[in-house]
Amino acid sequence: MPSSNDGIMVILSSPSGAGKTTLVNLLSKQNNFEISISHTTRQPRQGEIPNKDYFFVNDIEFKRLINNQEFLEYAKVFNNYYGTTRTPVIDNLNRGKNVLFDIDWQGADQIKNKKLDYKLITFFILPPSKEILFERLSNRDMKDKLIVEERMQQFERDVLHWINYDYVVINDELNNCYLKIKNLIDAEINNGSKDYDPNYIRNHIEKLTS
Ligand code: 5GP
Repeated sequence: MPSSNDGIMVILSSPSGAGKTTLVNLLSKQNNFEISISHTTRQPRQGEIPNKDYFFVNDIEFKRLINNQEFLEYAKVFNNYYGTTRTPVIDNLNRGKNVLFDIDWQGADQIKNKKLDYKLITFFILPPSKEILFERLSNRDMKDKLIVEERMQQFERDVLHWINYDYVVINDELNNCYLKIKNLIDAEINNGSKDYDPNYIRNHIEKLTS
């Protein structure tokens, strides 16, 4: 039974290449946060640690989890399945831990629509410009031009979902962006004043989508 001592849920979503994973790791060191570890059917990347970065499972196991209704949310992203199992999340929230989710807009929509009795704050992280996003994607492990092109096209579609989030934050500089998110979370928890300008965000999105 949820109570006022429960933890809160914080979702960070972003189009690929906006720097979200680093932000999630920085935030997890603050405010009593636990990162929710997702299940995925995609192959591990170099350096990823099983059961820490993801629970890597095959399609059969993923389907079993769907059929057993173990997922709080799940979605297909870039041809692979990703999902958040319910039990660890609820256990953490009931123990007063805040839970941080690094999930896409489909998962964010599903969790929002569940209307759970826990406070939920959602953030959408955006790059400063399309040029910088292109540079970031090209410099990552994606030396393949086709993949960069595909992610740029995906960006055009993903960015449209900003409207369903509580806050949109621009990742111009990592530490700056981290502090903006941290301050907004603190303000939400303590009912403090928020440093957030919706008009500035609207203008930025107009530029990104023009
Ligand atoms: P990646 O394969 O680069 O780790 O993640 C690809 C995308 O899947 C990212 O946008 C990430 O936020 C999203 N993602 C990771 N885990 C989950 C999950 O459990 N559910 C949903 N809906 N999306 C996820």
